Amino acid sequence: MSVTAEPTRAERRDVPRTVDVVVVGAGFSGMYLLHKLRAAGTSAIVFEAGTDVGGTWYWNRYPGARVDVESLSYSYSFDPDLEQRFEWQERYPTQPEILAYARHVADRFDLRRDIVFGTRTTAAHYDEAQRSWTVRTDRGDTVTARYLVMATGCLSASKLPEIPGLDAFEGETYHTAHWPHEGVNFTGKRVGIIGTGSSGVQSIPVIAAQADQLTVFQRTPAYSLPARNRKLTVDEIAGMKSRYRDYRKAQQESGFGVPTAIPTRSALEASEEERNAAFEEAWESGSLVNLLTTFTDFATNQEANDLAKHWIHDKIRSIVADPRTAEDLCPDYPVGTKRPCLDTGYYEAYNRENVELVNLRREPLVEITARGIRTAVREYEFDTIVYATGFDAMTGSLTNVDIRGRDGVSLAETWSAGPRTYLGIGSAGFPNLFMITAPGSPSVLSNMMVSIEQHVDWVCDAIAHLQEQGLATIEPCPEAQDAWVDHVNQIASHTLYPKANSWYMGANVPGKPRVFMPYAGGVGEYRKKCDEVARNGYEGFVLAR
Ligand code: FAD
Ligand code: NAP
Repeated sequence: MSVTAEPTRAERRDVPRTVDVVVVGAGFSGMYLLHKLRAAGTSAIVFEAGTDVGGTWYWNRYPGARVDVESLSYSYSFDPDLEQRFEWQERYPTQPEILAYARHVADRFDLRRDIVFGTRTTAAHYDEAQRSWTVRTDRGDTVTARYLVMATGCLSASKLPEIPGLDAFEGETYHTAHWPHEGVNFTGKRVGIIGTGSSGVQSIPVIAAQADQLTVFQRTPAYSLPARNRKLTVDEIAGMKSRYRDYRKAQQESGFGVPTAIPTRSALEASEEERNAAFEEAWESGSLVNLLTTFTDFATNQEANDLAKHWIHDKIRSIVADPRTAEDLCPDYPVGTKRPCLDTGYYEAYNRENVELVNLRREPLVEITARGIRTAVREYEFDTIVYATGFDAMTGSLTNVDIRGRDGVSLAETWSAGPRTYLGIGSAGFPNLFMITAPGSPSVLSNMMVSIEQHVDWVCDAIAHLQEQGLATIEPCPEAQDAWVDHVNQIASHTLYPKANSWYMGANVPGKPRVFMPYAGGVGEYRKKCDEVARNGYEGFVLAR
């Protein structure tokens, strides 16, 4: 089985031979980049593997797919008129609503005319003599550009489980990140799903309600909070629209890109009653950030974190009727160290008679067979298998492309012991290469719309600066990069994050180096650092004529 779904061949625009900037990816990053570059009079072309804009929200069409940051917060801030005009329907909108928003933005700014759809960038080589990038695609295009911006997404290179027999199964198979546009009807089907991260947690209750039988194969349980999703009220929308500018500023200065009350005391200082009340309030609020910011030491102190962990275990036990299933659903790693999930009826789904949980810690996966899935204990037979097995996160979509910088050095090889960037924006040895929300930036630890806009603004300002000053190249100096990588690692080492086998650590991909990839110092602090670097003449970068 291959994870490369369509693209159906869309009508393609002509591809120019030369352009100022090649952007790869037309998700929210690539879309805003194109708009901003155009506004600055910089010529740009975008290559996108899919047949339309939206990125994540174009590909991940599985049942139950939703955002887990509120719509009024997970949206562009760069155009106040767009903010006022677009009408969000739900607190946590579904994938179709978010995709509709992306399409609305593409129409509003007439973006599609500079996007080459159905086209995957395969290689980008830096030519030192010309000081330009030569970019190649799977459709035979070759374009040269002064700048290359990889807006390829942190969660866009999907992965299948590393088990034998993937092609052996004779029924239907789907990966959550390559869901068919026409949807899947599970009525009357026996379905097996592998994976209980956010995609599994969101899709399991919806599939369970339709399928005849659903068997969930779980390697690691997730911490999941009830979303308490609902329609937005007219007053809520009007209230946010009247204070959007202040809200956006607060987002930019916050830790996670979502303004929240700043905790003032340790979980260990609070009485049991106060602690339980705080956890209950977060649980009832349907907000992950509220849970993560209940106390000051949640992310840094094992003892404090254990209190939340045991509280959530009790919640799971209170929802799931079968005691053994409930125990299997209780995670043992610190809360928040793997990406927590937001669900609608996840734990409740295990109370249905047609849902069964298989704990792969007790009975490991052995192989996919013609009829289903074989574990060390038995073979399970299915009509359909769903892979909710996630992504080669943060680096996969960059190292999948044959990117070669100075002296033909490959990015994938340079990063073989872990990604090395300065500010998560550039990498030494790769002049005029920019990356959006790459390792070394807050990225996936934040409301990504906030981080995307901050990177796009910074990159476009840097390009404008070079053009104004008649400069040809910008590239991180190795010393500044080393210091930044050390800083990122040092911050992570003061947290509990490295304690979990998470995709933040590359632990979900066999052979991938174990490095905590995002910057855990918070969106606000990070923004200050980036602004300071730019103010000081792009300190830490070498700018050359
Ligand atoms: P993407 O949306 O991933 O877009 C990248 C695009 O690049 C894709 O369209 C891809 O086809 C294209 N591409 C990649 N490589 C190539 C290539 N070589 N050639 C051509 N095209 C290429 N973040 C949040 O903040 N809150 C959430 O609630 C949230 N929910 C999520 C739910 C799901 C199911 C997933 C997978 C991610 C979620 N995220 C969430 C993270 C989400 O990825 C970001 O919020 C955001 O959409 C990323 O936008 P992007 O443009 O940077 O990347
Ligand atoms: P994920 O979090 O990486 O989950 C993948 C699941 O598959 C995990 O349970 C993993 O187990 C399991 N798995 C992977 N390989 C396996 C194997 N070989 N054998 C058995 N099990 C295997 O991926 P995801 O659920 O697609 O989510 C990825 C990220 O996208 C999220 O963390 C989040 O940032 C974003 N997202 C957000 C939302 C949202 O609610 N807005 C929804 C979906 C995705 P292990 O944990 O043991 O590796």
